[in-house]
Amino acid sequence: MRKVIILGGGASGLTAAICLKRRGIDVTILEKNKQVGKKILVTGAGKCNYFNEDFTSTHFIATASECTSSFITEKNVKRTKAFLDSLGIIPKIKNGYYYPNSLKAVSIQNSLLTELRNLQVSILYDVTVQEIEKKEHFILKTTKGQFETQNLIVATGSKAYYHTEEPTFLLDSLKKLGHTIVPIYPGLVQLKAKGGYFKEWAGIRTEAKLSLFIQNRLKKEVVGELQLTNYGISGICTMLLSNHLVPKLQEEKIEIRINFLEPLQMKTVEEAREFLEKRNVTFPNRTISELLDTILDYKLTNVLLKRVGLSLDATFSSCTKEIIDKFLYSLVSFPLEIIGYNSFKEAQICLGGVDLREIDERTMESKKVKNLYMIGEMLDMNGDCGGYNLGFAWMSGILAGNGVLSD
Ligand SMILES: Cc1cc2nc3c(=O)[nH]c(=O)nc-3n(C[C@H](O)[C@H](O)[C@H](O)COP(=O)(O)OP(=O)(O)OC[C@H]3O[C@@H](n4cnc5c(N)ncnc54)[C@H](O)[C@@H]3O)c2cc1C
Repeated sequence: MRKVIILGGGASGLTAAICLKRRGIDVTILEKNKQVGKKILVTGAGKCNYFNEDFTSTHFIATASECTSSFITEKNVKRTKAFLDSLGIIPKIKNGYYYPNSLKAVSIQNSLLTELRNLQVSILYDVTVQEIEKKEHFILKTTKGQFETQNLIVATGSKAYYHTEEPTFLLDSLKKLGHTIVPIYPGLVQLKAKGGYFKEWAGIRTEAKLSLFIQNRLKKEVVGELQLTNYGISGICTMLLSNHLVPKLQEEKIEIRINFLEPLQMKTVEEAREFLEKRNVTFPNRTISELLDTILDYKLTNVLLKRVGLSLDATFSSCTKEIIDKFLYSLVSFPLEIIGYNSFKEAQICLGGVDLREIDERTMESKKVKNLYMIGEMLDMNGDCGGYNLGFAWMSGILAGNGVLSD
């Protein structure tokens, strides 16, 4: 029976459906929403950053980290680009980040819909799959009755970004079928920090370098946009670090140090001192805050001054060296103790999911259950910001779409 059912019409499920139908295989998508590809619309702030020029396994984390490079291969990257080209998508590439030339996420959704329509892929909307059972065939219990299939692709994504509903993503069923589920956490998510000054810096956006320390050991550094919020930090840099720390937060001490002077290429207290002392000579009548005008947002300068006990009218000559050093230290290495993170509904992805070791990297078939395939975000394969999560959704969809019924 050359027939496949796909659970979930998101980026990965739609890709798999297109690949299967192009091979002449009959496919039906069961989708709980009234439309497919809905999440694509909110990606990249509505512009859809759908791929990245630098698409390597170093941009992914997984509990089975040794497996990521067997999925993200040069060959698979080429196949993914060829698939996206075959949909007629014209990219606009900014610093390696791929967007549709229109800069509208809906164009990506439309490209997929056009191809699905042309191929006459069957899509059943408003069908929530509640449970998967395996007898001779797979039995799917849904809100619209029972379905049966010999070949099943699960592409149900994750609960990241769901606002009002709590659908079942079928991880429980997959666990019952023998799969290991790596615990789920919000990923690419904003971070809450300890401190009483956040209301004062809320709303500031700045370029900075963030260094992540776990148990006082430097784990990762990122440079880019940082948003300061009334609970802590957000922005691309924060989200990038969040994937590396969220699951560890309960047991380990997590600190992020911020270098606000990174855009001026200053890394140390000494460099910051030399720079500000020179400025102080050029502008002898200025306060410290005035010396930092045009370098930092004044609200941020105010927070940093207050934190070391200085006021806005403090000058270099009115302060002790010890206090100045403390202030300079907070400019280049502002310490933030991370104490939490926002919820799934604010997260861009879910960390965790089905363990990669249980998936055949050539076809996305389960190593535990024959004719069962899993793709996309439901797997424990967590990408950076920058088109990596959609990238993996397309890539795994292509592998399954060409892997099912290939022998
Ligand atoms: C705000 C935001 C911004 C993002 N920006 C980017 C970006 O710019 N670049 C990037 O690469 N990634 C981005 N992502 C992540 C990216 O959107 C996801 O990783 C990607 O969509 C995952 O694809 P998927 O096919 O695995 O799952 P999804 O796209 O989530 O699709 C899963 C589908 O399954 C359906 N479904 C779920 N459960 C059931 C069920 N029980 N029965 C029937 N149907 C079901 C869902 O309705 C959905 O249609 C962003 C995510 C968010 C939330």
